[in-house]
Amino acid sequence: MTPQEQTSHWIAQDLAHCWHPFNPQSIWGQESEILMIEQGEGVWLTDSLGRKYIDGNSSIWVNIHGHSHPRLIDAMKAQLDKIAHSSFLGFGHGLASELAARLVSYFPENTLTRVFFSDDGSTALESALKLAFQSSIQTPGKERRRRFIAFSNCYHGDTMGAASLGGVGTFFEKFRGFGMEVSHVRSMDDLRALDEETCAQTCGIVIEPIIQGVNRMTPWPEGMLRELRDWCDSRGILLIFDEVMTGFGRTGHLFACMKEGIIPDFLCCAKGLTGGYTPMAAVLTTETVYNAFLGAPTEGKTFYYGHSFTAHPIGCAAAMASLDIFEQERTLEQLPPKIRLIDELSQQLLHTNPFISAVRATGMILGIDLCRENGSPFTPEERAGEKACVAMRPHGLLTRPVVHDTVVLMPPLCITEDELRLAFNALDAGIRDAFTSC
Ligand SMILES: *Cc1c(COP(=O)(O)O)cnc(C)c1O
Repeated sequence: MTPQEQTSHWIAQDLAHCWHPFNPQSIWGQESEILMIEQGEGVWLTDSLGRKYIDGNSSIWVNIHGHSHPRLIDAMKAQLDKIAHSSFLGFGHGLASELAARLVSYFPENTLTRVFFSDDGSTALESALKLAFQSSIQTPGKERRRRFIAFSNCYHGDTMGAASLGGVGTFFEKFRGFGMEVSHVRSMDDLRALDEETCAQTCGIVIEPIIQGVNRMTPWPEGMLRELRDWCDSRGILLIFDEVMTGFGRTGHLFACMKEGIIPDFLCCAKGLTGGYTPMAAVLTTETVYNAFLGAPTEGKTFYYGHSFTAHPIGCAAAMASLDIFEQERTLEQLPPKIRLIDELSQQLLHTNPFISAVRATGMILGIDLCRENGSPFTPEERAGEKACVAMRPHGLLTRPVVHDTVVLMPPLCITEDELRLAFNALDAGIRDAFTSC
């Protein structure tokens, strides 16, 4: 089979049998060609027809050090040569021990000390919520605390519990009534205005620290995390940071919360934990939370939660290798000039491209809001973000929008300044191609 024939065959099978996430399947393959990604090296992806693209959204916000990184691949292969999988239910393994110790080592002693592993961002949030809930009802004086607080427009994953926190209507509206009891607030002012009774019934508050991702890559006001930490402490409410997107360098810091020096009661990480090579998640928490689950086995204080592939050895191997690369390649130290370039090129784009109404850059994360040439906004039906991203493909960039009219640029941290310039040229050209005639 030629690459063309092979690709057509795969597309036919995909159309007949696959079901893609977050995707209106009724128009799948009609608005644009279905790309089959086959290889990756560094920030570059190659499709089954041999075309190359910059991975402009880190393969949905996960990839950190680039694709096919030899250190990551070698670490995963070395583990495969020993054993692919063993169970964490009732047994341990060396890499999980080392990874847990390493993750907590990034925080001051006696703060975050315990690690609960799971599979992905949603199950990290799901387990953090259950941990917060169960630790509260098992703590004398906190038994009434069964509610959560979350922020408007937040996104914390798609499993029922995580989705019930969600503030994006299109994602959770149909499932209202399932999951946790949640109060939504927009800001610290809203939070301070909450009635005492709601606060007294709340066990935890969840936030994407520093920047909300799905909500158009919108940063929070500076200094907010300190205010939030103080507010929680004065009310006995647990603070849960969802660092699934922001973790592992995206904001320029290893974890976003380090930007403001605030330590939560739960820190959830997933996407970039393994460098983005395999699914794996971790929830870091405190000894105080952990202690609420101690007691005789028959007391019923155990955390009965876990997944078949919890603490997967290949994931642990990848995570350890990824953290090694942060040190060996001085990944974080290399970021400031790249972050400055993103700031500069995004401002330039805003001022020269007539179809852009705003840009928001936070570290290595950029949101670009699209508009008509006269400055008026696109409607959701126009699918402007999707169209712009499709138009970027021939210019060598792959990415996806959030909401309907915000395009994301969030490349692997290893991207070079030259590659960043290529990505911005493709953003500019694609956006112009998409809208110039309308
Ligand atoms: C992606 C994401 C999740 C969900 O993670 P999955 O691995 O897709 O389940 C949760 N929270 C945030 C902030 C995310 O960006």
